[in-house]
This record gives sequence, structure tokens and C-alpha cells, in this order.
Amino acid sequence: KMYNELQDLKGNIRVFCRIRPFLRGQTGRKTTIDYIGEDGEMAVMNPAKPGKDGRRVFRFNKVYGPDSTQAEVFADTQQLIRCILDGYNVCIFAYGQTGSGKTHTMMGPNGASEEEWGVNYRALSDLFKISQDRKATFIYESIVLDSFVYLDFNTLGIMSTSQPSGLAVPDATMQPVTSTADVIDLMNTGLNNRAVSATAMNERSSRSHRFYCLFSYPIYLNILDISKYTVSNRIIYSVVSINVRGKDVKTGATMVGNLHLVDLAGSERVDRSEVTGDRLKEAQHINKSLSALGDVIFALAQKSSHVPYRNSKLTQLLQSSLGGHAKTLMFVQLNPDANAYSETMSTLKFAERVS
Ligand code: ADP
Ligand code: MG
Repeated sequence: KMYNELQDLKGNIRVFCRIRPFLRGQTGRKTTIDYIGEDGEMAVMNPAKPGKDGRRVFRFNKVYGPDSTQAEVFADTQQLIRCILDGYNVCIFAYGQTGSGKTHTMMGPNGASEEEWGVNYRALSDLFKISQDRKATFIYESIVLDSFVYLDFNTLGIMSTSQPSGLAVPDATMQPVTSTADVIDLMNTGLNNRAVSATAMNERSSRSHRFYCLFSYPIYLNILDISKYTVSNRIIYSVVSINVRGKDVKTGATMVGNLHLVDLAGSERVDRSEVTGDRLKEAQHINKSLSALGDVIFALAQKSSHVPYRNSKLTQLLQSSLGGHAKTLMFVQLNPDANAYSETMSTLKFAERVS
């Protein structure tokens, strides 16, 4: 198998930790990050208890410090993503409190240059390129997909899971795309329509579900009619789904692989966000679905015979790309600020449970 070169990473779940830098205007802040090793080890210091007692060490498959680049991060995820060409399902998601760099890792900053592209655009580019290179030998009936949409998991009935071709989204309209630039244009259209909710933590924090799937060579992007699905509004995760169908040149067997790239909702606790009313309900929903996701990954990591996919719409949606013939990568995102210590610890505890 051409792209299955992951022997160095055992098992089907891997966890990468990424620590974002202090941002402009934050110089001189105190950090909780005490140590970043080359070997996946890092240590955090409790600012209230500096010294041995306040120090905790964690171990991941990789740790990226504040100076890491988007290219470095992608270099370590590219082989995993290419596994979809061998018929694997791959799910990559970013977990962490609001402002910890989830969107930066998964997508990149708003209006990013190629250099700043996150995992999703880099993955798309890579897949577009491979599909062109391999046109002669490898038949991609399809790459890609749906669209974006703001979906409210509670009001939307469509989330039948394990569709081999990805997400079952009704009423999609098709838009041909031939390059990553086309996709970005469409993404931006979607982004402009996105419901944005300011929270106490980060005004840029976006809380919406977004979907697209890639289809067919030539490639089509399905755009959903967003207005139909905004019903009660806003949500939480952005999910990009890329589906590839190809024929194994040797055996002629059809292979279907899909990639879900998930920019999760902020994991911060409700009280920290100072929300009430609908925002409170939303926050509770987020907590519930993130802990359901944690339970699923924990069960998978334990190789448990019962995996509780049905406990949330999020885990139902992602079922085909979690577990079974699937490979999962979680980016654990950290804000280095000493003020973020308690959220940092709760993020690390979530990660520790599944790694
Ligand atoms: P989240 O999606 O977790 O809420 P963002 O990705 O929006 O967080 O990051 C918060 C801020 O930090 C943004 O301004 C983003 O551009 C910046 N940022 C995050 N990670 C990095 C990084 N690795 N390098 C530079 N800036 C970053
Ligand atoms: Mg974000």
C-alpha cells in the first residue's frame, strides 16, 4: 500500500498537542508551559504552586511548541490523510478552549495565505494534486463534497451515519470546483453567512456547524441551502468531509475513504463564558457532546466492545470515521497563558484519558 506508512504510530488513535504562541500585545505574560520535549513530552506548571508540586508531565505522539509552523504540522498529518486513498476513514479534530488555536490549526487565520493554510486546505491541495497525478492509473470517481451549511443537529434529521459516501445531506445543489482556490471561494461565501456569537472569551469564536463534501473527478462541491438549516441558529462545530472513491488498480475493487476534519466547539466550562438563556443551553449542549466524544474515543482507545456512539448527534455523525476501519487524530490545543491554567489542565485531562 502506497500511503500506509504509519507503522511508527501504534494503534488507530493518535494525539498531537499544539501550544499556540502569545499573541501580539501579550508579551510579558506568564506562561504555564514549563517544558516542551522533542519526543512528545511536555510539562505544565501551576502558577499558584511553582515548583515540583505544581508540575505535571504529559506525553503525546507529538508536541508542537509556539514556534511550530503550519507546514510542520501538516508534514506530520499528510500520510494519515492520504490513508483515505487506501480506503480508510480518517477523522482529525481539534479540541481545546476558545482561543487556543483550533481554527488556526484546522483552517488557518481568516484570509490566510498559502503559507498560513491549516490542515484542511493543505489536505485538499494535496488530494487535488494526487488526483491529477494519478489520473492515468488511479480512477477517482470522486473526491469531495458537500458543502457548508449551518446545521443544527437538534433540528436536522439527516444525520444518518455510516453512509459510505459520507454525509447524507438532502437538497444539495452542485457546484463544480477544480482547485483549492475554488473551494476557498465557496468556503468564504459560507463563512460570510456564518452565525457568529460573541462570547466573553473570544469575539471571533464562531459557533456553527458547517459541512461540505468533495465529490467526483471532475470535482463537485455541493452547497446546501443554508437558510433551511439555520432554524434555531447557531452551532458549534465545523465539519469538513472529504470523500474519495477510487478503484484499486490491481484488484479492481472499489475503495471508499473519507476524511472528516472537525473544528470542535470550545471546551471551556460554562461559567467561564458567562452565558445565560439560549447561550447557556448551547453551552450545555456543547459540554454534553464533547464529553460524548471523549467517551467514544476513550472506548476506542480501550478497545472496548461497546462504543457509545449514540449518545450525541456529533458522535453519530462521525461514527463512520471513528473506530472500525478508521484512524483518528486529535489535536489538543493549548493557550500558554498562566491565566488559562485551569482550562489547560482540563484540556490535558481530556487528552490524557484518550491517549
Ligand atoms: P480557537 O479556534 O481555538 O478559538 P483560534 O484558532 O481562533 O482559536 O486562535 C485564537 C487566536 O490565536 C487567533 O488570532 C489565531 O490567529 C491565533 N493563533 C492560534 N494559533 C496560532 C499559532 N500557532 N500561531 C500564530 N497564531 C495563532
Ligand atoms: Mg475557532
